[in-house]
Amino acid sequence: MDAGKFFSETYDEARSRFLEAATQAGARIQTYENPLAKGPGGATLCLDTAWFGPADATSVLLNTCGTHGAEGFAGSAAQLAWMTTCGPMDLPRDTAALLVHAVNPFGFAWGLRGTENNVDINRNFLDHSAEHPDNPLYDELHRFLCPKTLDEPAMHRMLAAGARFVELHGQWALEDAMSRGQYTHPDGYHYGGLAPEWSNTIMSQIVASELSQAARVGFIDWHSGPAGDGELIHLCFSNPASAEFARAAHWWGREALDPATVNAMWGSKRPSRRGIMFWGLEAQLASHARFAGAVIEFRSALHKPSPAKAIRASLLERWLRFESGFDAPDTQQYFEEIREDYAPRRKSWHDNVIRNALECYRTTLIGMGEWGRENARAAD
Ligand SMILES: [Zn+2]
Repeated sequence: MDAGKFFSETYDEARSRFLEAATQAGARIQTYENPLAKGPGGATLCLDTAWFGPADATSVLLNTCGTHGAEGFAGSAAQLAWMTTCGPMDLPRDTAALLVHAVNPFGFAWGLRGTENNVDINRNFLDHSAEHPDNPLYDELHRFLCPKTLDEPAMHRMLAAGARFVELHGQWALEDAMSRGQYTHPDGYHYGGLAPEWSNTIMSQIVASELSQAARVGFIDWHSGPAGDGELIHLCFSNPASAEFARAAHWWGREALDPATVNAMWGSKRPSRRGIMFWGLEAQLASHARFAGAVIEFRSALHKPSPAKAIRASLLERWLRFESGFDAPDTQQYFEEIREDYAPRRKSWHDNVIRNALECYRTTLIGMGEWGRENARAAD
């Protein structure tokens, strides 16, 4: 199979191919336009959904992509491959699939990770009426992680300050403080926002309007980024002692969910996150549906041999948003660098993403079918 054909060059192309394939496969489509932001050239930005299978299915696979904007290139290709290789024909009994294209269309269209407000959607799903979690070490880091220029002396100062921080607190503390989410610096890294983002509000609407009849929701949220070549990393955010964690382990293998495996695949111990979408949707569904699944990463970036390389994509995104603006000279090469991390154009990566994604859809849907049958037997 020529896997490269499923990958799009732009958000607009990915979106029209999603809509066309979904229509051809007989899906019911809904479109939500983002009134708050535009894409390159003033283009309209939309989140689209496609429903396959019975309208009253009690088991639903919810499959999202583009939660982290540019990471949607991989997820969108996976969805397109599933739709056009007879995926919708093979749904188990009483099972539907709800595909969500571009949770964060602004990030997808611009090739960035955050939303129009520089918010990381996967830190935004928490109770904004309560006090936001603090991240005191981030407050220390923010000053030197946000240089005013990208020249060599500035980079050198930043790395030296980072090295001093690591001496004091350790390497993991730096990674954790930077990426767990922070709610104090809107122009900083992994900012979680102080109110629900548009994407968050629309996802909650979709859950309310599309999943009210569901008793079992399986969840795959496609992401990309960590160094590798299309291998999957399963980030299951269910309580490890829960039946839902065991359910996901049954679909994808206990080893795939084991923290040792995940940390090895991730490249270091994972950060302690707050406000991720998985928990937000799980909580919203809790009154009537069981919720099992994972954030699944396609490994994509080249190996990062130095701290400067490891931070580069995030640094450039912040630079483009807050220092240079999107139209300044040189920005094209920076956008391209970021793109290479999340959606490289290597053939091996395309092949591995599509092969692994289709296998993941297959095992998940077999599992969803079993889940429904177990339930039917229990009700007999
Ligand atoms: Zn991501």
